Amino acid sequence: PQAEVQQQEIIYRSKLPDIYIPKHLPLHSYCFQNLSNVASKPCLINGTTGKVYTYEEVELTARRVASGLNKLGIQQRQVIMLLLPNTPEFVLSFLGASFRGAIATAANPFFTPAEISKQAKASNARLIITLASYVDKVKEFAQDNDVKIVCIDSVPEGCLHFSELIQADENDLPEVDIVPDDVVALPYSSGTTGLPKGVMLTHKGLVTSVAQQVDGENPNLYFHSEDVILCTLPMFHIYALNSIMLCGIRVGAAILIMQKFDIGLLLELIQKYKVTIAPIVPPIVLAIAKSSETEKYDLSSVRMLKSGAAPLGQELEDAVKVKFPGAKFGQGYGMTEAGPVLAMCLGFAKEPFEMKSGACGTVVRNAEMKIVDPDTGLSLPRNQAGEICIRGDQIMKGYLNDPEATARTIDKDGWLHTGDIGYIDDDDELFIVDRLKELIKYKGFQVAPAELEAMLIAHPEIIDAAVVAMKDEAAGEVPVAFVVRSDKSQISEDEIKQYISKQVVFYKRISRVFFIEAIPKAPSGKILRKELRAKLATGNY
Ligand code: AMP
Repeated sequence: PQAEVQQQEIIYRSKLPDIYIPKHLPLHSYCFQNLSNVASKPCLINGTTGKVYTYEEVELTARRVASGLNKLGIQQRQVIMLLLPNTPEFVLSFLGASFRGAIATAANPFFTPAEISKQAKASNARLIITLASYVDKVKEFAQDNDVKIVCIDSVPEGCLHFSELIQADENDLPEVDIVPDDVVALPYSSGTTGLPKGVMLTHKGLVTSVAQQVDGENPNLYFHSEDVILCTLPMFHIYALNSIMLCGIRVGAAILIMQKFDIGLLLELIQKYKVTIAPIVPPIVLAIAKSSETEKYDLSSVRMLKSGAAPLGQELEDAVKVKFPGAKFGQGYGMTEAGPVLAMCLGFAKEPFEMKSGACGTVVRNAEMKIVDPDTGLSLPRNQAGEICIRGDQIMKGYLNDPEATARTIDKDGWLHTGDIGYIDDDDELFIVDRLKELIKYKGFQVAPAELEAMLIAHPEIIDAAVVAMKDEAAGEVPVAFVVRSDKSQISEDEIKQYISKQVVFYKRISRVFFIEAIPKAPSGKILRKELRAKLATGNY
């Protein structure tokens, strides 16, 4: 018999040595492990009111929230939903859930009632923490499902106030036995295909991810305790939750919370609080690059700007660098399912943190990365583009109640397939060049084509539909629809757009509708999105 030739896998690792990661610790214990050194230091700064919460206060209040959740009947491994803008209460609620051994699922507060209910139902949320002004969006769901609503500001009828949580006695919290594989965060993501799904991130996973970013004898220590980290990115997205909030707390830095993005206010706050680290996303990079007000402010405190969540063009990167001559600029690469950070801008080729323009980092420590040919599944050498795969303790445990989708994303050898196409160059720098998966990213926000397609097809005058990304200067990408109308239908582009707008958050709105005879499909029924994207690229629609 012929000997089976097994191809040697080509695996990339960080140049930094692996570090010890205390994976046995629950996430909150890990984050507050150095509490005694930073107890009286500012932990959270409310950018709107100027109110400062010290480390000691945050830790104690989070334990009280845990006790309060317990009093309200929240059991270990039950889910609470955070429907909040960036606020200190978001952080306190998330950490409180962790102390309780419960799970937090955060949703975009701009979601429509239908979008919120879908997530709350799928995750089986038992309690929702929100603002009074959002109560109308969740009231019906809460009533029908016997779910409690807690408001952090005023208290509409039938709701509880956040003070019920923070006034609980921390000593009333019973002993909670948390194991490393217990889920603590449940963000929603559509992954490489289909509808949004609950991404199970465990205590061990998040501890590992945070440690990969900020622990160890890293000579270029990414964040340190003297840093003031800007948090303008939404905390309901895992990027801000992990890479700003959890990493910031682990190192003992101050986190400056901005509730709403506004370029003028952002610049003002950088100057006022001497922000040192500014994690941003491409649309904010664009706003800074285009702003004529940057000269009016002293931005010299910023030592690092970091962009992630969506691709960033080189011109834009160069344009923003000019505005912060003293700062390093780097990209990071994340995906919710990957915990989320796969690569970050440490930089080895030149100076620390100095990466080539367009690179989105080098693989994190204590992890393995490979680039595979999507057709053959074989791993590829340097400088050849293929699907980026990652393996390590930081990746998700799986999708909630969806073993098939989990198995499609994490293979039997533990590799998470990202659906992103990229290559690693001779200096270990990773470049993302394309996206294999159907996901659309509007200003870094996820738009799942399957969700919009389901809505379109539900319309009586639409026979078939496909949604793909179209390039857009301001948003990066916008969703556009190819639609097959029923026989006699005269339904217009505007009518279809309005029909969708009523059902979705602003960034999922369809920007253009193209009517076609038939949606191109493979024999398996799979939409040939590439063909549709090619039509857009050539203007042939
Ligand atoms: P999310 O799960 O919402 O964080 O979205 C993850 C996806 O965003 C990735 O799989 C990429 O397609 C995209 N993405 C994240 N960071 C970058 C980056 N630096 N450059 C290009 N695309 C990125």
